Amino acid sequence: MTDHQESTLRQAAGIIESEIDLEAIERAAHTMLVAFGEDPNREGLARTPGRIARMYEELLAGYRTDPIELVNDAVFQVAYDEIVIVRDIEFHSLCEHHLLPFIGRAHVAYIPRESVIGLSKIPRIVDMFAHRLQVQERLTTQIADYINELLHPQGVAVVMEALHLCSMIRGVKKHDARMTTSAMLGTFRNNMATRMEFLDNISRSAEPLHF
Ligand SMILES: [Zn+2]
Repeated sequence: MTDHQESTLRQAAGIIESEIDLEAIERAAHTMLVAFGEDPNREGLARTPGRIARMYEELLAGYRTDPIELVNDAVFQVAYDEIVIVRDIEFHSLCEHHLLPFIGRAHVAYIPRESVIGLSKIPRIVDMFAHRLQVQERLTTQIADYINELLHPQGVAVVMEALHLCSMIRGVKKHDARMTTSAMLGTFRNNMATRMEFLDNISRSAEPLHF
C-alpha cells in the first residue's frame, strides 16, 4: 500500500489519535449516580463507575482501531468480477442520541475490479465503525465508503437492519423498533439487475431480529 493510499484510508476511517480518558468517564459516572439521588458508596454501586469506564472503552474501541493494520495482508489481486456477498454479520452499536445500544445484522456486497479482501475482514470493518457513537444511517454509509476507498470496486452495497433499544424502552415504546438502512455505490446504484440480485439474496434472511 502506498503512503497516499494509507493516508486516504486513515481519513476514511476517521480515527481518533488521543487515548480514551477512563478516569474522566469514571468521575462522570460517579457524578451521575449522585445526580440520580443514589448513594455511590453503597456496596452495589461502589465499583460501578469503574465498570462503566471499562465498558465504554470496549464499546467505543472502533475509534482507535488501526484501519491499515485491520486489513493488512488481506487485500489480494484477483481476476474475479462477480458479486461477493457477506450476509448476516451480527453487529452492535451505540446510538449517539441516548448512548443506548442498537443491535442487528449487516449485509455487505461488492463487485471487484482488481482487488478482493479476505472475507473475515468484512465483519471487522463493520465493527470498526459500529463500535463508536453512531446513527445507523451514517454507520451504513461509512462502511460502504471505506470499502470503496480500500478496494476501488465496481460497486459496493451495504444494508443494515437493527433494533433500537432507545425506541423500544422509552417514550412511545414501539416494540418493533426495527430500522433498515442501505448505501449503494457504483454498479449497485446504477444497475437495477445487480441491485436486485443482492436484495433478493439477502431477503432470504435467517431468523427475525430480537434482543
Ligand atoms: Zn437513541
